[in-house]
Amino acid sequence: MNHQPIGLYLHIPFCRSKCPYCDFCSYPRPTKELMEAYTHELARRIREAGKTYGEKLPEPTSHSDQGTTSSRVALDTVYFGGGTPTLLPPSCVRELFAAIRETFAILPDAEITVEGNPAAASRDALSVWHECGVNRLSLGSQSAQADELKALGRLHRWEDVEKTVADARAVGIENINLDFMLGIPHQTPASLSDTLARALSLEPTHLSAYTLMLEEGTPFHRRGRAGLGLPADEEEADDRAITLWEQASASLRGAGYEHYEISNFAKAGFRSRHNLHTWQCRDYLGLGVAAHSCMNSVRFGQSRDLEGFLRGEDITEFTESLTLSDRESEFIMLSLRLSDGLDEGEFLRRFGRDFWHTHGDACIPYIEMGLMRREGGRVFLTEGGFPVSNAILADLI
Ligand code: SF4
Repeated sequence: MNHQPIGLYLHIPFCRSKCPYCDFCSYPRPTKELMEAYTHELARRIREAGKTYGEKLPEPTSHSDQGTTSSRVALDTVYFGGGTPTLLPPSCVRELFAAIRETFAILPDAEITVEGNPAAASRDALSVWHECGVNRLSLGSQSAQADELKALGRLHRWEDVEKTVADARAVGIENINLDFMLGIPHQTPASLSDTLARALSLEPTHLSAYTLMLEEGTPFHRRGRAGLGLPADEEEADDRAITLWEQASASLRGAGYEHYEISNFAKAGFRSRHNLHTWQCRDYLGLGVAAHSCMNSVRFGQSRDLEGFLRGEDITEFTESLTLSDRESEFIMLSLRLSDGLDEGEFLRRFGRDFWHTHGDACIPYIEMGLMRREGGRVFLTEGGFPVSNAILADLI
């Protein structure tokens, strides 16, 4: 039995259409019957996971779960990702929450997030999610520019982002993340500046800015950089991505957001607690097609086999027991993505080794270059070190 609160991730693999750059597990234009069948099976697997990880399940007592936390695994975050979870019919949302509350003990101050897409998250739908317990919305906004959204194959307009944010607030969801993309075809420093200004005018609590990647198997990958009007030369593309990332970082920090992870920015008190489970190497359980987990130092992932999932088959794609050395490398890699950096005391507690003794020599040249710092028992990358983190990490692990 795991007594530490864990994070629960549920993958909802349905979208209105398939974006040409998307490598996530998502199936376009689902029927209501398919979403219902998926929900029934996911609810069954939630209960099954409760048996695997919890003690004997008690009868559900109340909507608030008070008083039953000792016999069930506690959740301090729940995350509905996708895909576009906000497409689920209300009956499916209620069914999933019933299964979660029956199986796990959601802590009273838990962060409960649903991912949604503008124009695919009506006020009524958001109201049902909020009524069930959702207190955070993560919205795939991507850009405020019509030509960039069109190039990405997105179905929404910026006005839809504004409306969805207003709707979320109207139903009581105040904690709102906006996802943005850097390196989009047609994007320029001026267009990014305009996008960020419009985003900031909506006063989100959190923003994520990820660089567009051409993932193998996607239409964008087949078209290639040149076909998309992006710099064909890899070095030039990297330089462009870094320039845009630096611009976004400076602008968001200037607006009062903490740059707490390479690609993530938050108002004080609004860091994504769910993602911190991963970045701080704490346990999280993922259920649904393509969902990944890490529990008790075992990492495992589900395949994308939707039909097998619906038939109730075991669709585990891989299971990997992490060695001490694997865990140490992962801890270094993930800690250094965070502005809080790597806690040397925590490293010693987890691995029984002195970080500076084993890795200090590799850090010193980067400290001299101003790309890393060591202070207060912690080692971290500086703002200048973030964009070259891959090269630094390659030296460290
Ligand atoms: S909306 Fe998101 S998950 Fe769905 S296809 Fe587009 S990028 Fe993928």
